[in-house]
Amino acid sequence: TKKAITERIKDIDVVIELLDARLPGSSANPMLAQLTGQRKKLKVLNKQDLADPARTEAWLTWYREQTDTHAIGLDASDKTPAQRLIAACRELAPNRGGMDKPLRVLICGIPNVGKSTLLNTMVGKKAAKTGDEAGITRMEQRINLASDFYLFDTPGMLWPKIIVEKAGYHLAASGAVGRNAYDEEEVALELISSIKAHYGAQLVARYKLADEDTIPTRHDEELLTEVARKRGAVMSGGRVNLQKAAEIVLNDFRSGTIGRMTLETPEQFAIWQAEGEAAEAALKKKREARLNKRKEEQDEQD
Ligand code: GDP
Repeated sequence: TKKAITERIKDIDVVIELLDARLPGSSANPMLAQLTGQRKKLKVLNKQDLADPARTEAWLTWYREQTDTHAIGLDASDKTPAQRLIAACRELAPNRGGMDKPLRVLICGIPNVGKSTLLNTMVGKKAAKTGDEAGITRMEQRINLASDFYLFDTPGMLWPKIIVEKAGYHLAASGAVGRNAYDEEEVALELISSIKAHYGAQLVARYKLADEDTIPTRHDEELLTEVARKRGAVMSGGRVNLQKAAEIVLNDFRSGTIGRMTLETPEQFAIWQAEGEAAEAALKKKREARLNKRKEEQDEQD
């Protein structure tokens, strides 16, 4: 996918990044900034129906303050998303348009962010899927949203190394990561840790937890245990089944049954990112030191 994007990016005017509105920072591909360079960017906070409206607004403002960037919120209830995407892209690249200068747009996003759903809604009567033209690989589809508006699709992708620890957990909670790649109990505990400070009322409403005011300060495991008890996830002998409770919480989060919530704010994510980068840099330094030492030892032996 990286290769396909690198190839295609040369003649792209606007890059649309489809983000999960509940985890905008975590669902943003850190490699994409490198790949897209100076191109205009449209951040689409998708599944906004599942997200906290106030936090969605905060993220939109945050993105709109960045250069060459526009941002909109979207969800599957919007029956005419193409119009909004086209308008936003035209605003970003007003110099493009007309048959001789069609607006060429690339759309990227992580798995499960809702890209297929969005594309299916947009491929109405007017739009035509084409895949048999020169230069369009099997991995990539071109959709003509208007006679002078080409949308190139890319396969949903994650990146090889997630350096922001929280991002890994949030991606797993959202369903972007394959089930076998994480421990559900661990992810559910991290999810609880991310939501308990801000969404205690929703947890009380959904799981009939006791004493809303104490929720932010209670241990994640204690809260998951209470969920297990309240939902009858108890094994013979009365032991709670935390695995079952974790599945319940994750399913409720993915479906939105747990209530509208957003796991991160722009400010929080910026801090996590700085921490992740610092940890990564420290790791790299340690690795280099180790390699150098080995090389010196080798040289001495020789
Ligand atoms: P893709 O992997 O990015 O192509 O994602 P899909 O389009 O297959 O969607 C993944 C899941 O999210 C499906 O269960 C969709 O029904 C659901 N979904 C897609 N868009 C929305 C949305 O705007 N709101 C909600 N609540 N669910 C959505």
